[in-house]
Amino acid sequence: MIRYNTQFIDNKDIKQVIKSLKSDLITTGQYVKEFELDLKKKFNSKHCVVLSSGTAALHLSGIALGWNKYSHVITSPITFAATANSALYLNSKLHLVDINLKDYTIDLNCLEKKLKKIRSRSSKNITVIGVDYAGHPCDWESMSFLSKKYKTFLMNDNCHAIGAKFKGNIGYAAKYSDIATQSYHPVKNITTGEGGSVLTNNHELYNKIKNLRSHGIYKNKFTKKKGIHFYDITELGYNFRLSDINCALGISQLKKLDFFISKRNQIASYYLKSFSNLENIFLPQMSNSNNISHAYHLFPVRINFKKLNYSRSDLFRLFNKNNIFPQVHYIPIYMLSLYKNKFRGFSKKLPNSYEFYNNQLSLPLYVNLSFKKLDLISKLVKFFLARE
Ligand SMILES: *Cc1c(COP(=O)(O)O)cnc(C)c1O
Repeated sequence: MIRYNTQFIDNKDIKQVIKSLKSDLITTGQYVKEFELDLKKKFNSKHCVVLSSGTAALHLSGIALGWNKYSHVITSPITFAATANSALYLNSKLHLVDINLKDYTIDLNCLEKKLKKIRSRSSKNITVIGVDYAGHPCDWESMSFLSKKYKTFLMNDNCHAIGAKFKGNIGYAAKYSDIATQSYHPVKNITTGEGGSVLTNNHELYNKIKNLRSHGIYKNKFTKKKGIHFYDITELGYNFRLSDINCALGISQLKKLDFFISKRNQIASYYLKSFSNLENIFLPQMSNSNNISHAYHLFPVRINFKKLNYSRSDLFRLFNKNNIFPQVHYIPIYMLSLYKNKFRGFSKKLPNSYEFYNNQLSLPLYVNLSFKKLDLISKLVKFFLARE
């Protein structure tokens, strides 16, 4: 079975996990600390908190940034639901801004228009969440410029782009945003089974998120006055911890990240070359001005189904018959029933994301995808496009 994405686990990963199982603490132990340290080093971030999922990372980031019912959260609709859900957890007002049709990240002109409008109406807490769709970073320099100009917080939903580079820098996520969130779900570029993290250079945000991870429990010099045993809780927290077993896998996976990214780029190059002269298929493009390295979490293609006699479902059926399972990334947030009432008419208001949704699918891309399988996938795509 060929899925759109899957994990790569080797013997070193397995050995490391077994080692963690034999250690004294299997949660809140040394592997958690070590994984956080490794992540900080790899992504050049002052602080890191590992969490039970990327969703937990978004949720706690929202709390740390003070989101409440008066806050505004802006993101693009072509993302996993978790990005938008994080605003709803805290009853904040969600705004959806269209994507650009070049790299499918948030459209900067539309974003500025939206910021102008919200800023003029209120002096409120505004957060922009940029999603590095498919592994292609947003234009973070411009994002940072806009966030300063309109006095907003800036978050990077970095879940797709683990290992990507912006201006040649693998540590761009924490550099340009107030908080970056990552996910280590098995389809992401490295995995811990389930898991996630926040990366930030802001000490105060770090402290808040670290406490919220474990019920809001903290100890400091004031609690010590009430006895060595004493801890306090001032803010309602959660259990969003990640176990040492997961972190052991993460430590071992992170060592392979560069290899994973180069493999993913090889596969992407194969597709790009194989489809380069075909009509009715649009391939992912790289914004060339920012010295970007693509992390290729996904290989999104757009097919001009309107010009063909067959639909996307026909293409899916053809793939499925051959035991290949592509996916659509994503159904725009405003089309989901949970959001429909808040975003009536948005398929017309955000035409790029609607057009994108109607034509998009993600071709399989994972480290262990053999050239034989790649050849089969690309033959099926060519067959489909040429079908009378
Ligand atoms: C995977 C993903 C998440 C959520 O991560 P989980 O670890 O599955 O909770 C959030 N945002 C984006 C863009 C993602 O791809």
